Amino acid sequence: MTDCIIIGSGVAGVSAALTLKANGKTFELLGSAALSEKITKAEMIRNYAGLPNITGADFCKALQDQLAQAEISVKEERAMGVYALNGKFGVATQEGNYYESKTVILTCGVESVKTIDGETEFTGRGVSFCATCDGFLYKDKTIAVLCTSKRLEHEIGHLAHFAKKVYLIPMYKNVEIQGDNIEIIRKMPVKITGNSRVETVVFKDKELAVDGVFSLRESVSPTTLVSGIETENGHIKVARNMQTNLVGCYAAGDCTGRPYQYAKAVGEGNVAAHAVSEYLAANK
Ligand SMILES: Cc1cc2nc3c(=O)[nH]c(=O)nc-3n(C[C@H](O)[C@H](O)[C@H](O)COP(=O)(O)OP(=O)(O)OC[C@H]3O[C@@H](n4cnc5c(N)ncnc54)[C@H](O)[C@@H]3O)c2cc1C
Repeated sequence: MTDCIIIGSGVAGVSAALTLKANGKTFELLGSAALSEKITKAEMIRNYAGLPNITGADFCKALQDQLAQAEISVKEERAMGVYALNGKFGVATQEGNYYESKTVILTCGVESVKTIDGETEFTGRGVSFCATCDGFLYKDKTIAVLCTSKRLEHEIGHLAHFAKKVYLIPMYKNVEIQGDNIEIIRKMPVKITGNSRVETVVFKDKELAVDGVFSLRESVSPTTLVSGIETENGHIKVARNMQTNLVGCYAAGDCTGRPYQYAKAVGEGNVAAHAVSEYLAANK
């Protein structure tokens, strides 16, 4: 069991990881070796102290080099569930692994694409966020897949392997995935409807009858990820030391609220890592 698991490899997660490393703590950093699309997408960053006019790509490279120098590697895994269990935490990933730690820092950012009406209501009743966990349940069935990032296309492939028909609703450009049973719908749905389970995806001008809907997003909403976590206006509620309402669980960066800025995310990641170190010292 490690001291901490950091969920999300944006600047908040990187900052927390560097500080935990400096404090001599053991941890896993879950996310992507590419770190975060929100770093590389920035054309020019002009407001980060000490690094005037740096491109997002250069900033990302600098962060990757800094992680390599500190001998920190990112585990390319997506957390799908965080469970508080008698003073420790269990984290299940989409890749089928399960990790335990004494503390958790949530640095999962915010999803910029709004959820669709019915998406939250039907979660667990036909709406799923995890292709590898639930894909097999839709063998020979018809499903719709809402996907916000090209990076998640491999998950669509996994679903298409099981399903009879996949309506892919991409919310990104340059779709590459193809398949005999994949039909691309380039429209935004208005809502997901049904009775006890999902039945229909509704568009302005048509409806699709489906057995299930997969919502593949860069960020899983905090309440879906961590059972019992307190949020306020869609953000994780934190104290000054970045502790959430769950003892031993901290959060940092965009997921704790505005302003959405690198400097805030880096600062909060640092504060959360120090708070974790203090918590570990007090709870040996
Ligand atoms: C185009 C653009 C330009 C910007 N320009 C600026 C600027 O000039 N100056 C500025 O200060 N700010 C800017 N921002 C805002 C800045 O990008 C964010 O404030 C910052 O990236 C937040 O960092 P973060 O670490 O909190 O989250 P993110 O950067 O969003 O990182 C979160 C990471 O966690 C990963 N993740 C999410 N859920 C999970 C999970 N369940 N398991 C594993 N990993 C997970 C995500 O894939 C992502 O990699 C810009 C944003 C955009 C989109």
